[in-house]
Amino acid sequence: MIRQILFDIITDSPEETESAGEKLAGMIGENRFVAMYGDLGAGKTAFVRGFVRRLVPDAQVCSPTYSIINEYTSDKNKICHIDAYRISDDDDLYSCGFYDYSDWLILAEWSENIAFAVPADHVEVRITQLDENRRDVSVSLVKED
Ligand code: ADP
Ligand code: MG
Repeated sequence: MIRQILFDIITDSPEETESAGEKLAGMIGENRFVAMYGDLGAGKTAFVRGFVRRLVPDAQVCSPTYSIINEYTSDKNKICHIDAYRISDDDDLYSCGFYDYSDWLILAEWSENIAFAVPADHVEVRITQLDENRRDVSVSLVKED
């Protein structure tokens, strides 16, 4: 496995974490899967909000905690936002319809819960809470070697 850091920044507000998401959206290229890691309240959904703003400006991003999957679409882009917090196995993942989104750009919160479904080549986003309003947002490219 090869890991290449794209950027690692400290943010001091939700807006700055949104900007980090927007930055990634501008450099996502051919990558179709963004695996996100970070505790509850870390800022994963905030990051997705900024990311989506760049590609689907009209979308309203909210946490898919209950819906499990949110869709954001425009003429050019189709984004699947999944919150895997309550997913524990492949049956759960199948049941929520995740496998219908294979040709979409996927952003997955709680990717550790769906490790079996994260493709070898993906973008990894790790958000760590440093302080009440301070986060470390680390974004890497992961590839099979
Ligand atoms: P997650 O999806 O990881 O559970 P959310 O994005 O839903 O997290 O929530 C993050 C919470 O942390 C929000 O209440 C937000 O206002 C707060 N917050 C404070 N500082 C930051 C920061 N630097 N980046 C992101 N969120 C922050
Ligand atoms: Mg969230």
